[in-house]
Amino acid sequence: MSTIPLVDLPASYARHRAGIDAALRSVLDDARFILGREVGEFERSFADFCGAGHAVGVASGTAAIHLSLAALGIGPGDEVAVPAHTFVATAEPVSWLGARPRFVDVDDRTGGMDPDALKAVLDRVRAVLPVHLYGLPVELTAIGTLAAAAGVPLVEDAAQAHGAEYVREDGSVVRAGTYGRLGCFSFYPGKNLGAFGDAGAVVTSDEALAERIRRLADHGRTTKYEHLTVGYAARLDTLQAAVLSVKLRTLAEGNRRRRELAAAYRSRLDGVGDLVLPVEPANRRGVYHLFVLRTRHRDALLAHLRAAGISAGVHYPIPLHLQPAYAPLGHRPGDLPVAEAWARECLSLPIYPELSDEQLETVVSRVHHYFDRV
Ligand SMILES: *Cc1c(COP(=O)(O)O)cnc(C)c1O
Repeated sequence: MSTIPLVDLPASYARHRAGIDAALRSVLDDARFILGREVGEFERSFADFCGAGHAVGVASGTAAIHLSLAALGIGPGDEVAVPAHTFVATAEPVSWLGARPRFVDVDDRTGGMDPDALKAVLDRVRAVLPVHLYGLPVELTAIGTLAAAAGVPLVEDAAQAHGAEYVREDGSVVRAGTYGRLGCFSFYPGKNLGAFGDAGAVVTSDEALAERIRRLADHGRTTKYEHLTVGYAARLDTLQAAVLSVKLRTLAEGNRRRRELAAAYRSRLDGVGDLVLPVEPANRRGVYHLFVLRTRHRDALLAHLRAAGISAGVHYPIPLHLQPAYAPLGHRPGDLPVAEAWARECLSLPIYPELSDEQLETVVSRVHHYFDRV
């Protein structure tokens, strides 16, 4: 039985092998492991890719969010608006800083932070932290306008959205992570731009903020042994930067292939069973980190796919407000009903640049097969 993984990291390495091996060997030969020149080179090219003034490489996507909030002065007693339907790493840094995540319900069609739900908590929060979930930008104009009116910064969790685009009301196009004060990226291996371990970056057009984050990530240091603030050990590793620079060259092409695959899934699965397929509003171009559909048959369909060797997934099965880790906040089922419905019904099909048309067809026919029987 042929198996189809949810992401295919060996295939990704095979595509980049020559360039990556040479880049790694060059770092090894000079042993420039900490803040070698590859870090600065990657930061420059990633900032250019995003259309941002500055990029600061950091140790992970979680560190990117943590350092961003720390640089904005978020701390004990503060609240930060976070969507309830996301990976836990969006909220963890809020808690680590002694602040409290204020969970916000999501939009029924896209799963992204719902601007109307945000309105209800805005008088309390010190920052707004939406997630471009699955690679689709959130409704940035509505969310950004609300944050601006409340006088609080917008920090984008763009960990799944490298290169995703949003069309502003004046027709200009911005890339994910550059609309707000700060944009946070993860280069976890399975992301659209993935390292060979943990890595991340913050992008911003605010030079002072970029410098503050750079300093915080490197022990708060001004010189080798002078420390202006209490910082962190959260730098981007030189070896990871070297890998990322090579893979960045094919990111746009990989995103195009993901969009092509998403279009094929959409046309082949339209009208099948009770499936609700991902939408793409006219003002946004997603990069399909994940292809997530909704169905009331989620668990049975998942089992049916897995029995055929197809690694479908669930992103994410428990909304953050109902996670055991957040039990102290006192939420109950029913508090954020749309996020809870997403958690119950969402199912991710395999999508990655190396997925072949034939593999996609195998997944599609297995989905058809399930609904032919129910
Ligand atoms: C991956 C991810 C993160 C965390 O990134 P790491 O690099 O794993 O720390 C944060 N937010 C979202 C939405 C993610 O998908």
